[in-house]
Amino acid sequence: MSVSHSHNQSNLRMTREQSFASLSSVIEWIDQRIPVNISLSACFGCPIEGVIEANEVFTWLTRFARLGVRGVTLCDTTGMAHPEQVRSVCSDALELANRLNMPQLTLHFHNTRGMGLANVLTAAQVGVNRFDGSLGGLGGCPYAPGASGNVCTEDSVYMLSLSGYDTGIDIAALLAAARGLPAIVGHATEGQLYKAGTNDQLHPAPIQ
Ligand SMILES: [Zn+2]
Repeated sequence: MSVSHSHNQSNLRMTREQSFASLSSVIEWIDQRIPVNISLSACFGCPIEGVIEANEVFTWLTRFARLGVRGVTLCDTTGMAHPEQVRSVCSDALELANRLNMPQLTLHFHNTRGMGLANVLTAAQVGVNRFDGSLGGLGGCPYAPGASGNVCTEDSVYMLSLSGYDTGIDIAALLAAARGLPAIVGHATEGQLYKAGTNDQLHPAPIQ
């Protein structure tokens, strides 16, 4: 569901309370048999309402945490987040999740305005360790002009590993998969790393 009233209404044709009620009934029915993660859209801005107050995000996070969900994903649905905002929202959200005994906080960024990687790094620096991403940055929405895919997985993983984070991901295998994508989707992808290669792929000096 969306933390923005207007976005939820236009995306799901429900008020936020209706969405919460219907998600609550599913969560209750599952009754801890499988872990549940709830995605909250438009946490960093809404294309209809503009600014979304961080307290709005924390209110919904709290309500879901109290239902016993394992985690919540804060989604920057239309790529409006910027690093300073991410720093403040994520550090407060982590503290809140911790206080509510909710073990998982995931961040979901889109690179719509070119700030996807900066937002991932900023969130990692304040302690976030779960991210959504898409190989080659694939995705987007044909009905939303300017929409872009999720932040590119291989670019994010490489940035995080160079920055000293242990991602547990095999970069070479990830890159091999990313390099196979253009042939499958029929066009180049948004990823940068698959075009340039990793820093240790050196080139012979041109002959003088
Ligand atoms: Zn998204």
